[in-house]
Amino acid sequence: MDLQAFRLEVRDFVRTQLPEVVREKVRLGVELSRSEKREWEVRLRDKGWIAPSWPVKWGGPGWSPEQRTIFLEEMSINDAPEGNGLTFEMVGPILITYGTPEQQQRFLPRMVSLEEVWCQGYSEPNAGSDLASLSTRAVREGDHYIVNGSKIWTSNAHNSDWIFCLVRTDPQAKPQLGISALLIDMKLPGVSVQPIIGIHGWRYFNQVFFDNVKVPVDLRVGAENQGWTVAKGLLDHERLNLSRVGENRRRLARLQRVGETVHEAGVLLRDRPWFRRRYRELEVRLETLAATVMRYRRIAESGEGLGPDVGMLKLVGSRLVQDMENLTVDAIGPESLPYDKAAHSQWGPAWPQLDDPHPQGLPPRNEYAITAASRRFVSRGYTIAGGSSEVQHNLLAKQVLDL
Ligand SMILES: Cc1cc2nc3c(=O)[nH]c(=O)nc-3n(C[C@H](O)[C@H](O)[C@H](O)COP(=O)(O)OP(=O)(O)OC[C@H]3O[C@@H](n4cnc5c(N)ncnc54)[C@H](O)[C@@H]3O)c2cc1C
Repeated sequence: MDLQAFRLEVRDFVRTQLPEVVREKVRLGVELSRSEKREWEVRLRDKGWIAPSWPVKWGGPGWSPEQRTIFLEEMSINDAPEGNGLTFEMVGPILITYGTPEQQQRFLPRMVSLEEVWCQGYSEPNAGSDLASLSTRAVREGDHYIVNGSKIWTSNAHNSDWIFCLVRTDPQAKPQLGISALLIDMKLPGVSVQPIIGIHGWRYFNQVFFDNVKVPVDLRVGAENQGWTVAKGLLDHERLNLSRVGENRRRLARLQRVGETVHEAGVLLRDRPWFRRRYRELEVRLETLAATVMRYRRIAESGEGLGPDVGMLKLVGSRLVQDMENLTVDAIGPESLPYDKAAHSQWGPAWPQLDDPHPQGLPPRNEYAITAASRRFVSRGYTIAGGSSEVQHNLLAKQVLDL
């Protein structure tokens, strides 16, 4: 495979197929509408690129780790919307690994055709870092489970058709040994979804409630009470995915542009030593992370299985996001304040306002100023999602460094 030719093919596709308004919104960090996201996903689906890490057998392109990395980089650098990671990088791979043939036949084709979108139901109001203490209960009654309880921080649940859910099937067993993984149809009677509005004004999170929801036993993934093994498999995929190399490339490109457009006492920031030093440090950290992620993708590809050390990728990638957003705000300075929630959200008077970002007749704000502060606030969640940094440090200390 000629990787350079492949890169150019992907670049050409995204540059010619991505609508200009969507590209601008992604570049500036403004929320996309559901239809804008959908339109882009349809184009990827029609091209056969909607599930970049899947094998050909299940509708993926069967790419090598190098091709996948190039694809994600080009998508990100050229300001394409983020892919639906929960469906294609988490639940899909779990079903490919642990699903029954019937489950695979039933669900995988409907993922790639975009008929069904998935979300992840792990966290609960009293079970986050200590996930094994989860208490959503599933009681077996014949060929069904009756599910009661609640999941929280469920990203994109309001747009999802199915939820991949961890439930307690044996309350007497040790916490990890009494959990099962269920595939639950969000349209079933007894499932309800309440919004949680994020600091950026977007509806991203939700709380999902289960009130006597009747779930067929054949929608359990793995054996009863073996859900922890399946859950850990999903977390490995999640942590590899959460290394955020592509996204960080876009942030670095944003910073480069800030350096080329923002002046400090008449001097462009790119010529200021403090900015150059911080920019270069971030660049080196990103390249180091990218090389390491590639190594882990090859391990995952070989079927060897990922060890607990994969957690360091998420640690490093999420910290990098925060440091990039911090530098953006520091570089733009007071112009990036006050925090402009409305501009960041499609619910506010957002998009038209970007054409006239400084209504008081003052000099125009930097193009990134309008969303810089909200992006910085939102980046705080990156070291929490998928397992907090504190907990990741503990795991690495115990399981990898043997401390
Ligand atoms: C952007 C985002 C998206 C998310 N999407 C989803 C989703 O789709 N589905 C889903 O199920 N969940 C989702 N979550 C939830 C996420 O998995 C939890 O927030 C996370 O596991 C932490 O749990 P918690 O919020 O209950 O915090 P807690 O576990 O209560 O932790 C609170 C604080 O205490 C610290 N802490 C806890 N235990 C220890 C310890 N043993 N040692 C040291 N420090 C400790 C933590 O680091 C943290 O700072 C998402 C979260 C975010 C931020």
